[in-house]
Amino acid sequence: MEQEEKSLNFIEQIVEKDLADGVNDGRIQTRFPPEPNGYLHIGHVKAICLDFGIAEKYNGVCNLRFDDTNPAKEDTEYVETIERDIAWLGFKWGQIYYASDYFQQLYDLAIRFIQAGKAYVDEQTAEQIAEQKGTPTEPGVASPYRDRPIEENLRLFEAMQRGEIEEGKMVLRAKIDMANPNMHFRDPIMYRIITSHPHHRTGRKWNVYPMYDFAHGQSDYFEGVTHSICTLEFEVHRPLYDYFIDQFSGANFCGLSPYGPDYRPKQREFNRLNITYTVMSKRKMLQLVKEGLVAGWDDPRMPTVCGLRRRGYTPSSIRTFMDRIGYTKVEGMIDQGLLEHTIREDLKETAPRVCAIFDPVKLIITNYEGEGETLTAENIDGIEALGTREVRFGRELWIERGDFLEEADNKFYRLSPGGREVRLKNSYIIQATGCEKDAAGNITTVYATYDPNSKSGTEGGNRKTKATINWVECNSALDAEVRLYDRLFAVENPSAEEGDFRDLLNPESLKVVTAKVEGALRSELHAPILENGIPKENHYQLLKQGYFVVDQDTTTDKLVLNRTCSLKDNYLK
Ligand code: ATP
Ligand code: MG
Repeated sequence: MEQEEKSLNFIEQIVEKDLADGVNDGRIQTRFPPEPNGYLHIGHVKAICLDFGIAEKYNGVCNLRFDDTNPAKEDTEYVETIERDIAWLGFKWGQIYYASDYFQQLYDLAIRFIQAGKAYVDEQTAEQIAEQKGTPTEPGVASPYRDRPIEENLRLFEAMQRGEIEEGKMVLRAKIDMANPNMHFRDPIMYRIITSHPHHRTGRKWNVYPMYDFAHGQSDYFEGVTHSICTLEFEVHRPLYDYFIDQFSGANFCGLSPYGPDYRPKQREFNRLNITYTVMSKRKMLQLVKEGLVAGWDDPRMPTVCGLRRRGYTPSSIRTFMDRIGYTKVEGMIDQGLLEHTIREDLKETAPRVCAIFDPVKLIITNYEGEGETLTAENIDGIEALGTREVRFGRELWIERGDFLEEADNKFYRLSPGGREVRLKNSYIIQATGCEKDAAGNITTVYATYDPNSKSGTEGGNRKTKATINWVECNSALDAEVRLYDRLFAVENPSAEEGDFRDLLNPESLKVVTAKVEGALRSELHAPILENGIPKENHYQLLKQGYFVVDQDTTTDKLVLNRTCSLKDNYLK
């Protein structure tokens, strides 16, 4: 695909300015910090393309950091799929880190914070704490535990960690400013107790777990991240991010960062990706999976990376899409049509064309004698480099029911008894002579005669007809289960609607048909071939029907095809 000429995005501008100013001695380090509590979706890919893209472009490094601070929701299954998906997208990380690697350091910092009189153990419920937060214009109310003696705070926090305090009964809060206009400064929670679930890496070692605001910036600092890029909703957290780092940075951090006293990671925020006709919240996606409303995380209707892959999206099309939408500070909604437009453009030049008949009716060429013959067809018309394939032709063919009309006016250019000549794609010209029907009046067989001197590729092949139709030779054809996917939701923005999002699912999002496909696809009859644990996918254009990908449910005796997208592009209009 062509690379479009682009001006720098605002993050690249920031990075280039930092490089010009010699900040961090020209070192560029980013990270992608997923929480291993679900599968990656296309929103995450936007962050991945930026985090890894900046590192690639400026000779830096992007590390993968699992933000695994909530054992109640996290699992190794997710860690593995996240790594696989990022590798499939074509990105290479430097190191793999886990926030859980820093639990001891973070705990030690929290102890020092308490010793400095900057944190206290609060025994109120989450509801009470929320009620006391105030509003942006009204100050909050101080907790009755705010001024506990330091010794008591230390004793209680240690008891929390030893597992002596029940989950939900106490939290550690930073003692900052209950009147700060930035609500995040109103004594944010630093630690909570989680005893109900073991951690997928540290097991039962910890009973207290750091909150995002306390863990994220410190983790960035330990690792030496220079540009900590995240989505806009964290912009209001940025002052707190800086506050915690300033509390501990330089000399205060006791050598916890190797980059010297002036080093600070800088958080920068960009707009999230939202796409029409889908949801991207992990909670909602999990619900769809758990309740069987989709076939799994990799259901081709899901906006997950594995779903898109199974739908037939290629890594390059997804990356091109991210380049096109760009990075700004303005939230918006992207038309799903743009995503489809991007994959269509990609497949247009790469996916071989084959014939498939979705609503078949038999055609018998009454004057065709013999066993049949093998014709040659270009894989993609007009692209010689993509080669040719062999196509069987014979006396009995499958054609689309809609390509024949028993009685037609002269505006109908396809088959009709006594009507016009029609070309069979890549082969001969035929003329319909009649048809046969069953008791119910349904057409079962169409009859035609052919002109032996009209074969494509010969002199007679140049004769023009008003219409060309698709066909598949009966003896060599094979049946394929074709899954016709459409948008998952019936409304543009399901998240903006009142009521239950599950009621907004598109009831027509999956239709399954059995199609007759040409024999060339027999080569696909095998179990998926894995490449780094991921099925290698072959893409086809089924003529007039759209772009399709061979699904991983295919076996040695059953072909399954998923529709990636139709041929019609509504986006450009
Ligand atoms: P949750 O839905 O559980 O709140 P999350 O979507 O924020 O999770 P994380 O695993 O915390 O998921 O996200 C990892 C990174 O991906 C974060 O830096 C986050 O900002 C980014 N990210 C998540 N969703 C989007 C999105 N829709 N567009 C762009 N970036 C996103
Ligand atoms: Mg998150």
